[in-house]
Amino acid sequence: FSRLKTGLSRSAAKITGGITGVFTKRKLDDEALEELEDQLIAADLGPAVAARIIKGFRSTRFGKEVTDEEVRETLAAEIAEVLTPVATPLELDRAHKPYVILMVGVNGAGKTTTVGKLASVYREQGLTPMLAAGDTFRAAAVEQLQVWGQRAGCEVVTAPANTDPASLAHDALSRAQKTGADVLLIDTAGRLHNKTALMEELRKIIRVIRKLDPTAPHATLLTLDATTGQNAVTQVGIFKEMVDLNGLIVTKLDGSARGGIVVALAEKYGLPIHAVGTGEQIADLRPFDATEFAKALVG
Ligand code: GDP
Repeated sequence: FSRLKTGLSRSAAKITGGITGVFTKRKLDDEALEELEDQLIAADLGPAVAARIIKGFRSTRFGKEVTDEEVRETLAAEIAEVLTPVATPLELDRAHKPYVILMVGVNGAGKTTTVGKLASVYREQGLTPMLAAGDTFRAAAVEQLQVWGQRAGCEVVTAPANTDPASLAHDALSRAQKTGADVLLIDTAGRLHNKTALMEELRKIIRVIRKLDPTAPHATLLTLDATTGQNAVTQVGIFKEMVDLNGLIVTKLDGSARGGIVVALAEKYGLPIHAVGTGEQIADLRPFDATEFAKALVG
C-alpha cells in the first residue's frame, strides 16, 4: 500500500496540517474542537463522522493538553472503525459459472479501466474472465475495453455501434456459458444526464441476462471517482435507485482526491468497498484495507 500512502499524502496533509495548527498551540477547548470539526468536514469525511469524532474527543479529552500524535492516533482509530465493516474483498462464488459482474457508474469514473484491472486480477488467479462492451453507443468506450482485454489477455465481446446493450449482454453471457468462462464483466454506459433512459437500459440488461441465468448478475458494482468529492456520495444514491448495488470501487485515490470521501461513503451507505484504484495502469487496483487507509489518511 505504499503507493496508496503516497497517493493520499495530499489529503493527509489536509487533515494533519490543520491538526498541527489547532493543537500545538492550545488545549482541547471548544474553539479547538470546532476548528478540528471544520477541518474534518473540509476533508470530505462528512458531517456525521466529523460530529462523532468530535464528540469522542469532547468526552475523553476536553480541557486537556493533547499532542498531535494523540489526535492523529485517535482520528485513525475512529476512521478505521467506520471503514472496517465495509472493507470486504470481492469474493467470487465459484458455484456460478460464469460469475456475472455488472459494472455501473458515470462516464469518466474509471469503470472501463477498473473492468480491465479486475480482469487482470482474475487472470492472475488462474481464472478465465470475459469482458462485454455494454456501452455500445460510444465507439471509444468499446475500443478502450478491447485494449484492456488485450492487456489482461481475455476475450472481449463487442457489437456493432448502437446495438441494444441488453442484446450484447445476452450474447456475451451466452458465449461465456458456452466457452466456460469463470467471470463475465459487463461494462455499461454512464450517461447520467438521462437518468430514466440509463435506468431502463440497466434494468433491461438485467432482465435479459436473467433469461440465461436467473441468478445473474451476481454482483453489481458501482465505480466512483474519489476526486469528485461529495458528487460521489450523490451518485451512490442515484444508482441505488436504479439497480441493487452490491458494492463499490473507488478510483483515483492516487491523485488529488481527498480520501476522506471514502469515509463519508462508508458511513452513509455501508456498502462494501471492494477495492480502490490508485493509478491508470493495469496493476493499480488495491484491496481496500481499513486500517492502512485510515493511517494513510491522517498521515
Ligand atoms: P469510464 O468512462 O467510467 O469507463 O472511465 P475510464 O475507465 O475511461 O477512465 C476515465 C479516466 O480515468 C481515464 O483517463 C483513466 O485512465 C482514468 N483512471 C481510471 N482509474 C484511475 C485511477 O485509479 N487513478 C487515476 N489516476 N486515473 C484513473
